[in-house]
Amino acid sequence: MTQPSPTVGQVAPASIHADRAAGRLEIGWPDGHTTVYDTTMLRWLCPCAFCRGEAGMPGWLDSGPTLTAEQTRLVDIALVGGYAIAPTWGDGHHTGYYTYALLRQRCPCPECTERRHAGADSVDVGTRHEAHA
Ligand SMILES: [Zn+2]
Ligand SMILES: [Zn+2]
Repeated sequence: MTQPSPTVGQVAPASIHADRAAGRLEIGWPDGHTTVYDTTMLRWLCPCAFCRGEAGMPGWLDSGPTLTAEQTRLVDIALVGGYAIAPTWGDGHHTGYYTYALLRQRCPCPECTERRHAGADSVDVGTRHEAHA
């Protein structure tokens, strides 16, 4: 695994739109790409120490919990220091800082999913992505 995970994600989104009613988070990137997460997916990505674990200890999400409606209900989103967003969830959880890099890297759209799968044997995924757009 020598592939650098380069400039993708270093940039701040051009727009962030939380549609609480629809349960969606829409992120527009400066290169024109749009990333859409549903809130359940976003909750599963929570990168905080409690959910992910730390120092080799498994986190809460690693135990495969059944998420309740409250736990996947997006209440609010705070911008953190120009590099991340911190959603507040219906159960009060708010300690996950989702960096822009993470949000871009984990983009669930078909194009990015395919790019991640191809990543194992391809080094110029960046240019490929742009060429497609
Ligand atoms: Zn968390
Ligand atoms: Zn994408």
